[in-house]
Amino acid sequence: MMNDSIILKTEEELLKDEKEFRGFFKNASLQEFWKAHFLKYNFDPEPDNFNWEYWRKIPLMTKEEFSDNLRLKLRDAEDEMSFSIFNFLLRVTSGTTAKKPALLLHYISEAEKTIEDLERGIRLWQPYHIGLRWALTGILLNKKNAGKSQQFLIIDPFKIDSKMANALIDFKAQSINGLPSNLSKFAAIFSSFSGFASSIKKIIFGGDFVSRAQFEIIRNFFPKINDDLIVSDYIMTECGRIGTFCEYLKKKYGGYQAYHPAVKNGVMEIVNADSNGYGEIIVSKIKPDKAAIIRYRTGDVGKALREKCPCGNTFSLLLLGRADFDYIKCAGTLIIRKELERVLNNFHDDIKEWRADVRELSGVEPIGELSIKIKPSEKLSRNKNKIQDISLKISGGLFLTPSKTLSDLVADKKFMPLRMEIVDEFPDTQKKILLRKIED
Ligand SMILES: [Zn+2]
Repeated sequence: MMNDSIILKTEEELLKDEKEFRGFFKNASLQEFWKAHFLKYNFDPEPDNFNWEYWRKIPLMTKEEFSDNLRLKLRDAEDEMSFSIFNFLLRVTSGTTAKKPALLLHYISEAEKTIEDLERGIRLWQPYHIGLRWALTGILLNKKNAGKSQQFLIIDPFKIDSKMANALIDFKAQSINGLPSNLSKFAAIFSSFSGFASSIKKIIFGGDFVSRAQFEIIRNFFPKINDDLIVSDYIMTECGRIGTFCEYLKKKYGGYQAYHPAVKNGVMEIVNADSNGYGEIIVSKIKPDKAAIIRYRTGDVGKALREKCPCGNTFSLLLLGRADFDYIKCAGTLIIRKELERVLNNFHDDIKEWRADVRELSGVEPIGELSIKIKPSEKLSRNKNKIQDISLKISGGLFLTPSKTLSDLVADKKFMPLRMEIVDEFPDTQKKILLRKIED
């Protein structure tokens, strides 16, 4: 049982929410999706006994479990809408090939297109998976407001094609949203279509590290956008927005990895926190009812701070990294394999393979040390200066806390300077261990 969860809400907020959550829970236990999940864990919902201790006993849900029961979730939603979800939601527009639909357009009538204040957005996410929550939410909202709520185009970032250009220009999106890597790819592919980006007023990054190179490509493609309109909400797959971007937090923590938890109609939790407060981020959203998600394991690691922000929020969420990485805690930081990959990918012409070792050197306070062994390209192996230069660039680009790079931590005397070792060949093992901790 995850009884150690930290709920990111004030006591008053929790008290206010209690009735709402109890009500939701009564309905949820009637839905096929939730019935199947609770049955799997032998969890017997008792909404009448709801309180926040009870809440902590509700089984967590993994991404796999969510995917496995997706069919039930769609059926639950369809019930309410009383028509086929797929007929209503999507049509394949022209300009695509006979392959799987790459461009999916939410139904928009001609009359609606003239309404200026509608939110029209491009969502650069894989449909059916990441786009699912928006799709369900959009349908339910549009139905409630006679089709006048929001219009969005879900584009699979892996299938962007310059043939889509005309359809996209016609759509006149006001916002675009996706992972930084997908947005920069989008900008690169459509860079030759002038005037393309003129309707876009806002860019929303999904929760991932934004590299300077990506940022520049995106800025150049959307010339009308100023920094204030580039918003980096922390958004994820099945649960929609998890963290909301805030200018004050950006200044305070020096980057795009600090957010306010998006707790409207929901709850954020940190479970299994270590002594520094870092643990897995758990998300629950209870509205709209049929698109709800409860105690969903994001796989992301973060820390919650209870602090009053000038914007009025009471909690901050510091995000350390994405799911499916290996990570190692070291000297008060987290060394994340994905983050290492992100930085080392910049040198893929020079570094053929790499392995990283992490060590904690004991002292009054532990000091961290990171060693990276590299197998260099032939060209690089003869160039000592270049190896030195790469080592400095890695230290300056590698984030070990939400706001500090390895160089910053070396300057703070929390870390030893990066050690780079050249090897001829790595041993041929079955499983490559890219990142490991050395216990001395
Ligand atoms: Zn704030």
